Amino acid sequence: MEKYLKNLPPEIKNLIVLAGEVSREIKMPAYLVGGFPRDLILGAKDWDLDITVEGNGIKFAENLAKKLNVSLVRHERFGTATLIINHCLKVDIATTRKEVYPSCACLPVVSPGTLKEDLFRRDFTINAMAVNLTAGAARKLIDVFCGKDDLAAGKIRILHDLSFKDDPTRILRAIRFKQRYNFKIEPKTLCLLKAAVKSGLLDKVHPHRMRDELVSMLKEKDPSAQLKQLYDLGGLSFISNSLKPDRQVYVLFRSISKEISWFMRSFPFHGSFEVWLVYFAALLRQLSLVQSKRIIRRLGLSKQEEKKILSCRQINQRFIRRLESKQIRPAQVFNLLKPFSYEAIILLRSISRDSVSKKHIADFLNIYNSVRLSISGDDLYRLGVLPGPKYQKILNKVFAARLNGSVKNRQDELALIGKIVK
Ligand code: ATP
Repeated sequence: MEKYLKNLPPEIKNLIVLAGEVSREIKMPAYLVGGFPRDLILGAKDWDLDITVEGNGIKFAENLAKKLNVSLVRHERFGTATLIINHCLKVDIATTRKEVYPSCACLPVVSPGTLKEDLFRRDFTINAMAVNLTAGAARKLIDVFCGKDDLAAGKIRILHDLSFKDDPTRILRAIRFKQRYNFKIEPKTLCLLKAAVKSGLLDKVHPHRMRDELVSMLKEKDPSAQLKQLYDLGGLSFISNSLKPDRQVYVLFRSISKEISWFMRSFPFHGSFEVWLVYFAALLRQLSLVQSKRIIRRLGLSKQEEKKILSCRQINQRFIRRLESKQIRPAQVFNLLKPFSYEAIILLRSISRDSVSKKHIADFLNIYNSVRLSISGDDLYRLGVLPGPKYQKILNKVFAARLNGSVKNRQDELALIGKIVK
């Protein structure tokens, strides 16, 4: 594995060396597992680390955190811990375990296990490889299920015939990885996947687990292709029987991708922006308000997510036509767009084909949204206006004038409130 490891960024190499030292010091063999070995071999650049430890994952994490001088979050219930390094690099640490599924689509019974058992509980061969990182031992690839061959052949393959029955979320995961890497689902796996879908296994999984996989799909690079694959292979009845995406939805998804890229490029410091939520809101536009609310609740989305998604329903043709008008003034554009989240605004830009409305939205984000008045209620008080709802009305008027360009600075603003007060 040295040839792959040597190309890693220095901070990751250092982390691996230190983890190897901890492993030797506390005498617990440790391995890089999951997506890391897969992406390392593929040359992909996603450096979140999954470490599994034969012994005690939390103890290992505590020692590594001390060495790195970072804090850790313990998940005692699962016997795992997470280290966040420099706000960007995440290291998940667990103890090797085995899982037994008492029945179809149920949560597994978990107990400590060997490395081989830990690899066997995983979803696909390409995700079931490990790299030994204990200092002093050779950093070899441990590839019990021939994942490296499947990576080279571009194949998604489950580890045993009951895999989809044990955990049907793997149906979505298979589709996600297939689409992400442009792989094929190996014939027997595909056959078992289709049989699992046909027997309604997706409806048996807890909706929150389905939500997590769906969100992961919508965060992938090409959600339009992801959705198409999911609909073709798995259907969307686990969300709602009424969801039947047509060509228009896929076109809208592609338009959303372009607009999100534009937004990320133009406003890198936008704060929180949930990419998946724009696609999800677009998908739910096919459904009634009642249906949408039911789905949102069943999937356990947060109140804030619900608010953002439902606000997207106000984006109708009438609204879009108003925004497409060339006559509309900046203050009117501001008032139209201000109540919306960034997600809804991006959906709006994706739905509208018109260059005038796109320009209005760009101006809102670039200019209007950051305009601040130089005057405040104190200035009104000094003019003898008694505090009350009047303040907001007057300040709104001045703000509109500022947006429309008829006042430009504090002096103009003061002159205008003087006139209004008179
Ligand atoms: P990504 O690049 O999307 O983060 P990943 O493989 O790291 O891919 P995670 O969801 O973080 O994806 O999972 C980490 C690892 O845990 C997987 O590589 C796989 O080995 C295992 N895993 C995750 N979900 C399942 C599942 N439902 N069934 C079996 N194994 C799973």
